[in-house]
Amino acid sequence: MKKYNFNAGPSILPQEVIKQTAEAVINFQGEGLSVLEISHRAKYFQPVVDEAEALFKELLGIPEGYRVLFLGGGASLQFCMVPFNFLEKKAAYLNTGVWSKKAIKEAKGFGEVVEVAASNNSIPDDYDIPQDADYFHITTNNTIFGTEISDHKLAAIYANKGNVPLIADMSSDILSRPIDVSRFDLIYGGAQKNLAPAGVTFVIVKQSALGKVSRYIPTMLNYQTHIDGGSMFNTPPVLPIYTALLTLRWLKANGGVNWIEQRNKAKAELLYNCLDQSKLFTPSILNREDRSRMNICFVLKPEYADLQDDFFQFATERGMVGIKGHRLVGGFRASCYNAMDLEGVQALVDCINDYEKLH
Ligand SMILES: *Cc1c(COP(=O)(O)O)cnc(C)c1O
Repeated sequence: MKKYNFNAGPSILPQEVIKQTAEAVINFQGEGLSVLEISHRAKYFQPVVDEAEALFKELLGIPEGYRVLFLGGGASLQFCMVPFNFLEKKAAYLNTGVWSKKAIKEAKGFGEVVEVAASNNSIPDDYDIPQDADYFHITTNNTIFGTEISDHKLAAIYANKGNVPLIADMSSDILSRPIDVSRFDLIYGGAQKNLAPAGVTFVIVKQSALGKVSRYIPTMLNYQTHIDGGSMFNTPPVLPIYTALLTLRWLKANGGVNWIEQRNKAKAELLYNCLDQSKLFTPSILNREDRSRMNICFVLKPEYADLQDDFFQFATERGMVGIKGHRLVGGFRASCYNAMDLEGVQALVDCINDYEKLH
């Protein structure tokens, strides 16, 4: 039976990317060696990192003066690397859910942290950004509750931030839509949602933004180290970087971020429309503008709440994988990352509609 992978992360990757990765595990680019056993210093691997950085820049339209790094440690290490490298006195954070909270907790170890606003179920837009902050940190997509900062609310942030540097965790919506990277001093994320298997973290950093804090920064935690080392200061996650390159090539070959944004919009519309009209279910996020296109959360209406396990089993029998909501939220979550196609979302919609007919 065909499986539809709605896992929140690690998550779906394009089928052809998985096949190409499997081929490279056996024989990397016809070299007679596995990608698992080549040296990252070998002549084979430098072109992989170079092409991955170049494609990242091309696909997102990243301006001059920025570097794209591929590091270890996950987005969670960035929660501490960001304040280590940028927080001298005070930082401002917008709290839009669990991941934002974790980022805030780490920053508090380095200086004063102003939480400008907080909400799990919507994207606040009525707050001031302290103009003396060293940076303002946002989480563009709330993976767990299913909210996302819309283009419209992002534009308001650009307008209101003044000269305060903007830093974003884009773990779960990177490359899902066009982004004006020139507005940001740093963008980071774990690659295991939209790009690669777990193990690599992408960092897009404006080089001129670095070097402004007075504290000692340990070598491995200093962005400058990894810029100077071209992501190869120490052994990088070779396989995940290779798969990231394959995903970037896939995205480019299909039409880039404009193409994927249209597809992501169509997918989200299809599923939210189904949920808005449903007799049994309701989308968890009520404000349409704040609904995530990547993580679509829904619950049974109170009068049908006892069908929770039954629907889960029904959906599992239809090949739906990973639709259980996060344990903090309950209900259901269908993660519809870039690699999920319209047909997959249609299969979930058919599954919901067929289930409704039984009730
Ligand atoms: C998954 C996720 C993280 C955590 O990433 P790790 O690579 O596991 O540390 C952080 N932020 C957001 C928004 C996420 O979705």
